[in-house]
Amino acid sequence: MPARKIKLISAKPMGKDVRLLTLQSDEPIGFVGGKWLMINPGIILEGGKTAKRAYSILSSDREQHIVSIAVKKIPNGPSSNVLHEIKVGEELEYSGPYGKIYHFYENDIVGPVIIAATDTGITAGMGAVNSLRAADFLPHIKMIWMVEGSSYFLSPDFVQTHIPQEIQPSLQIETIQPTGVPERLEKARLVLQKELERRKPKIAFLSGDESILSIWSEQCLIFGLEERNIRKDPFFQSLQKKNR
Ligand SMILES: Cc1cc2nc3c(=O)[nH]c(=O)nc-3n(C[C@H](O)[C@H](O)[C@H](O)COP(=O)(O)OP(=O)(O)OC[C@H]3O[C@@H](n4cnc5c(N)ncnc54)[C@H](O)[C@@H]3O)c2cc1C
Repeated sequence: MPARKIKLISAKPMGKDVRLLTLQSDEPIGFVGGKWLMINPGIILEGGKTAKRAYSILSSDREQHIVSIAVKKIPNGPSSNVLHEIKVGEELEYSGPYGKIYHFYENDIVGPVIIAATDTGITAGMGAVNSLRAADFLPHIKMIWMVEGSSYFLSPDFVQTHIPQEIQPSLQIETIQPTGVPERLEKARLVLQKELERRKPKIAFLSGDESILSIWSEQCLIFGLEERNIRKDPFFQSLQKKNR
């Protein structure tokens, strides 16, 4: 896909190392909620590669010219640090939207849905529930966000007020151990297990830490979900990051 330009029209600090960016494109982006953009922060890495990184659009696909992303600053991370410094009015190159699996399909049959996210993965979940296609599913959606604490990323209050009102009461936020703590994976497994035993979903949206997503998708398969209805969006993998 050819690179296009997007302009930063607003930037809001959301706590100590999180920045909410609002970006404007002259042409419609053409995304369905849940998809992500590949942003080029203009940094050339050692070896000559560009530090292009993926960011899920958390705002609704009803608006195709102006979108929001939230970026957590990763220590020494080339892209996230640039995105914390760029100034309103500056332009970034991007390509996309990308994401073949993680969104509601036009032919999805209305029924129970679980949106389970870890860490920064909540942005993908927000994009999915804010999409036009999610409208009929809203009374059937359960949303679970597993996060280290209220200052790790977007605040619980921000997430709560930036998803459709209808599903706000169903948002469950669970504290999870930081990456590298062994109990983290077991905690994530137990939380999903409890929910699956309570109510079997027809569709599962899973996003965030890939090490947890592989456990969650296995659990979903055991509970009888069809593979095509387990929609995964891995952001990073904690097991390789034990020493971070
Ligand atoms: C589909 C997709 C959507 C994404 N959406 C978002 C988003 O909405 N907001 C956002 O902040 N990031 C998001 N990311 C992560 C983002 O693409 C970058 O990995 C992140 O910004 C770090 O990039 P960097 O160049 O600063 O650091 P890098 O040098 O690329 O990152 C260093 C390491 O940190 C890992 N990492 C990335 N995020 C985390 C995390 N939260 N916890 C622990 N380790 C992590 C990376 O995988 C990498 O191994 C998404 C990733 C994918 C694949």
